[in-house]
Amino acid sequence: MTPEKIVENHKKYVLQSWSKQGNLNPIPIAKAEGIYFYDFDGNKYTDMSSQLVNLNLGYGNKAIGDAIKEQVDKFCFVGPSYATEAKSTLAEMIINLLPDSFGKVFFTNAGADANENAVKIARMFTGRNKVFSRYRSYHGSSFGAGNLTGEPRRYPLEPGIPGFVKFFDPYVYREAVEFESEEAATKYYLTKLREQIIYEGPDSVAAIVMETITGSNGVIIPPKGYLPGVRRICDEFGILMICDEVMAGWCRTGKMFAFQNFDVVPDIVSFAKGVTCGYVPLGGVAVSQKIADYFDDHLLSCGLTYSGHPLACAAGVACVNYYSEANILDNVNKVGKVLGEILEEMKEKHPCVGDVRYIGLFSAIELVKDKKTKEPLVPYGKDEKGIMGSLVGMLKKKKFMTYSHENMLFVNPPLIITEEQIREEMVKMDEVLTYVDNELI
Ligand code: PLP
Repeated sequence: MTPEKIVENHKKYVLQSWSKQGNLNPIPIAKAEGIYFYDFDGNKYTDMSSQLVNLNLGYGNKAIGDAIKEQVDKFCFVGPSYATEAKSTLAEMIINLLPDSFGKVFFTNAGADANENAVKIARMFTGRNKVFSRYRSYHGSSFGAGNLTGEPRRYPLEPGIPGFVKFFDPYVYREAVEFESEEAATKYYLTKLREQIIYEGPDSVAAIVMETITGSNGVIIPPKGYLPGVRRICDEFGILMICDEVMAGWCRTGKMFAFQNFDVVPDIVSFAKGVTCGYVPLGGVAVSQKIADYFDDHLLSCGLTYSGHPLACAAGVACVNYYSEANILDNVNKVGKVLGEILEEMKEKHPCVGDVRYIGLFSAIELVKDKKTKEPLVPYGKDEKGIMGSLVGMLKKKKFMTYSHENMLFVNPPLIITEEQIREEMVKMDEVLTYVDNELI
């Protein structure tokens, strides 16, 4: 097929996610390696978002590819009730990476169904039905996960599922109140949350679901003590704490799981993306031993044809092994430090940069019209002139591939990126920010 025909068919026959279908212009991909991908004209693009923050190990990882091929030669599929080496190995590896209190894994196809099953398990275990999640969150787009999601991508599912309650996240930069310290911020948010739970009726709340670090809504890093405080509230009322690690997990933040940055142990962890880096889709729900034991004599009423798919689990085993064998965490922490320094310099230098938030290789640049008033570069939910899209387009022209959300640009490269590569790419970002300074504010 010619590249033109690939694009033509895409436009004619494919419904593309989150897009108006009339004006699509997809790049036909010819090949990809490391942190780069190429079109058929030989143009080289740098992937500065790890696709959808899932391709943590970049393109063409041989260990993962070989593991998939080896599994293909053995068998491609058996149902969830059969035991396979890949599934048994991966489940053990995941439990060993989690705190000692964790017991078992339920495998899913991706992140949305991981979160849906996490909620279902929490409801079955607690016998309660309400679920708390946050406004600035994305937990997936299927019906249940879309109802957990707090941001506008949930709107087409409304009116929502009864009992899915939203609370505000600790977005200190945009809080109406000024805080003297992180601790003061934490106290404020936890007081509000606790009060809300009391008004909802604590005995009806099964779980609090949070992205450990809010990802696509702006890399919102919780203030000191926030997550342990949520843990205490959960313990006080017998509520389960579910950390959505779909985006923040798998080394992205400089720890294997993001919650490990915060001295807290959740009851349930949902994961996907980086467990296989998308080489084959896979997600899952890891639960505490206590929850796992409950299902020894209670029916686990969850099921997916492809739960524990052999090819996905084989990819997962190779991928998770690779994280440790290649010391990926060391690279994330080393290059992440450089990225953090560059972002701080940008905040200092550019009037349009209101805030930069970063941890490991997980970061967002928040653009404003005015640093003092913090007026966003585009109003919330109303970028009618397509300004953010045009900035992403400018970066794309420079072959810096990423995405925006509201008034933010994201820098979430594959975790194998080198210091030299990140410096080279961030020069392009700097040029675009200079344009914003000069032309848009
Ligand atoms: N949870 C988080 C935090 C995510 O970022 C995403 C996707 O971006 C999901 C869940 C949904 O995952 P999936 O698209 O694999 O269903």
